[in-house]
Amino acid sequence: MSGHKLLFDGLKLWTSARSTWLSRLHDGVNGPGKACFSSCNLKLKVCIVGSGPAGFYTAQHLIKARQDVEVDIYERLPVPFGLVRFGVAPDHPEVKNVINTFTQTAKHSRCSFYGNVNVGKDVSIEELQQAYHAVVLSYGAEGNRTMGVPGEDLAGVYSAKDFVGWYNGLPSCRELSPDLSCETAVILGQGNVALDVARILLSPIDILKKTDITQAALEALVESQVRRVLIVGRRGPIQVACTIKELREMVNLPDTRPEMVAAEFQGVTEAVKDLPRPRKRLTELMLKTALEIPGEKEQERRSKASRSWAFRFFRSPIEILANPDNNRTAGIRLAVNRLEGSGEGARAVLTGEVEDVTCGLVISSIGYKSLPIDPSVPFDSHKAIVPNSMGRVQQAGGLYCSGWLKTGPTGVIATTMNNSFDTARSLLEDMDSGTVDVSAARPGSQSISGLLEKRGVRPVIFSDWEKIDRVEINRGEATGKPREKLLTVEEMLQVAQK
Ligand code: FAD
Ligand code: NAP
Repeated sequence: MSGHKLLFDGLKLWTSARSTWLSRLHDGVNGPGKACFSSCNLKLKVCIVGSGPAGFYTAQHLIKARQDVEVDIYERLPVPFGLVRFGVAPDHPEVKNVINTFTQTAKHSRCSFYGNVNVGKDVSIEELQQAYHAVVLSYGAEGNRTMGVPGEDLAGVYSAKDFVGWYNGLPSCRELSPDLSCETAVILGQGNVALDVARILLSPIDILKKTDITQAALEALVESQVRRVLIVGRRGPIQVACTIKELREMVNLPDTRPEMVAAEFQGVTEAVKDLPRPRKRLTELMLKTALEIPGEKEQERRSKASRSWAFRFFRSPIEILANPDNNRTAGIRLAVNRLEGSGEGARAVLTGEVEDVTCGLVISSIGYKSLPIDPSVPFDSHKAIVPNSMGRVQQAGGLYCSGWLKTGPTGVIATTMNNSFDTARSLLEDMDSGTVDVSAARPGSQSISGLLEKRGVRPVIFSDWEKIDRVEINRGEATGKPREKLLTVEEMLQVAQK
């Protein structure tokens, strides 16, 4: 291409950009009668509630898309990153690399982080709406679905949410101290969380001790007597909710052997050819693990293994059985199901048969659940989400939602990223169209920090979190771990406010 042509194209681009800019300046960025951000330096103030992937990805998109947007992120805990810190398994450190991107966003000149602010308690959504042009709720799913069966409250029964929170250092789960003195553990649900829990229960300590699992969990797992983990699903092999990478990790877990029940795979070999590709590969791996006679080396490995795991299919919990003293779990009663329909949409139907399994530990991994945090915000308690269309909270102008609160508690970080970008796009569209009132300046964090001060709440800003981060990394170094997490909010605040 000639130098003249390049120069000409460059001039053309410049001229068209300049005329767009001039006409926007004339009309205000958003058209006649709307705000005049560029010309009068009005900053669009957006507040995000929650600093998990949804919060950070929403912030990232807003900041990148427009130079006149300022974002403040409010987080209940003194530390950021939500389930990336408190959910993702300690032996999956590569997943936590997203923290680098979140850190870049947090350090952007138009983004601020305010940890230790419990929205709905320390400050209301209405107060945030008065202080900001728009509020995005991204506070995730902090509750869990319950089984609704007798005995669910017995000692020895835990939700996966609490168990995961315990080994990952979530302050509210610090005192869980699960009793791991039994031989058999039953996990209900066959999603990736169930597999995370099974892997942590069965992994050799030499693997776990190099991760950021808490020291207390590590010590409990050293003493653990659990030798057999059953991962129980209400439907069949073609309906499991886990993915192939996580299943492969189970199959290859050192010192363990799979112990599937061949009869539960009836008809699966015939059905596999018609399955969509990811499901097909997952099912093939299950079939191979359950039905094929392994090679000599694998046979030897399996025969030497001191621990075992298995999927059990077509079983729903109906009762947690107590020991004779009636004070802790001694087993679980399962209803035997059959499937109605086929493929991923097949439904479990009771056959009337039941089966009792002896076990001392039951972990219910049937899903997380969002909770309402402020009565002024619409909440669909049946679906446990904030009702929304494309992230716009229904019947609540200027209020948006993203992440698990928007979609329900499924989806990996990449899914959460996409749905958060979509919410950010909706918000920007509404600012452009004038649906969100951006005609006047808003005080943003200035007014909120005044309120918080009056209420005795001292926010933890991002540089304070970096102090906590350094302390944790230093503590970890001493024991060969990437970090040793601080386990109480008090300790976190002490370090942050030094
Ligand atoms: P969250 O990550 O839960 O973030 C919500 C944030 O809001 C939290 O920081 C919370 O403290 C804060 N908050 C809550 N209430 C308030 C309040 N009242 N005021 C202020 N702040 C509040 N995905 C993968 O891709 N790979 C994995 O390996 C993986 N492992 C997972 C393991 C587990 C156990 C779980 C449960 C999920 C895992 N996921 C994984 C999925 C991933 O974690 C989610 O997609 C993602 O975290 C959802 O993001 P979120 O921001 O909606 O929610
Ligand atoms: P999930 O994938 O939705 O799995 C939930 C499991 O619980 C399913 O097997 C489901 O069975 C079962 N279940 C639900 N309600 C039940 C009930 N009433 N009775 C019996 N069983 C019931 O949820 P999750 O495992 O909590 O994971 C949440 C999300 O995080 C998923 O998208 C997951 O992929 C992601 N995650 C990813 C990773 C990773 O990438 N490594 C790790 C952890 C989590 P049915 O199918 O029959 O409903």
